[in-house]
Amino acid sequence: MRVLLVEDEEKVASFIRNGLREEGYAVDVVYDGQDGLDMAESFDYDVIVLDLMLPGRSGLDVLTKLRQDRITTPVMVLTAKDSIQDKVKGLDSGCDDYLTKPFSFDEFLARMRALLRRCHDRSATNLVVADLVLDPVSHKATRDGKPLNLTAKEYALLEYLMRNAGRVISRAQIAEHVWDISFDTFTNVIDVHINHLRRKVDGEYEKKLIQTVRGMGYTIENK
Ligand code: CA
Repeated sequence: MRVLLVEDEEKVASFIRNGLREEGYAVDVVYDGQDGLDMAESFDYDVIVLDLMLPGRSGLDVLTKLRQDRITTPVMVLTAKDSIQDKVKGLDSGCDDYLTKPFSFDEFLARMRALLRRCHDRSATNLVVADLVLDPVSHKATRDGKPLNLTAKEYALLEYLMRNAGRVISRAQIAEHVWDISFDTFTNVIDVHINHLRRKVDGEYEKKLIQTVRGMGYTIENK
């Protein structure tokens, strides 16, 4: 899951960014409305977190422009309490939600998950490949009924592979969806994470689910 965060208050921005990273999300942060619009139009994000009072361009202006340009990425609007009445009325495109500041991070996360489910048509049902089961709501995975002790990044990687089960996923695709823009694609970080994940998912099992496709990337499937 890759998130674009557009928020000019640095404290709020780093609070949200750090919290999301701990949960395994890849997060790009910009502090200006115009930069936010440019990023949203240049990259493929799973969700955009958008402050309303921004320098450069207002959040509402950014949102309106995105929808005009047919970019349907779900947007979570952050708004100060006194601006709710004025601003939120126009936001209900079905793929937007809003949260008033100050907010609890737990509520923020819960709303993000709900927004992602609603907008990406991601039902709350489990992802299954053979005896490997991933529950996107609780963020837990099991193999043969035994819980896998995954880090947030390993979980994000596994979820991405399982959502694309049977398809070969390149390192570039993994980088784009699981890491953020500061990620250096020349490192072997992805391979290292895949190896850790593989040890946990496939290590003790005869049937190996995660496959390397030489020169192309990785895939997960029930062969
Ligand atoms: Ca602001």
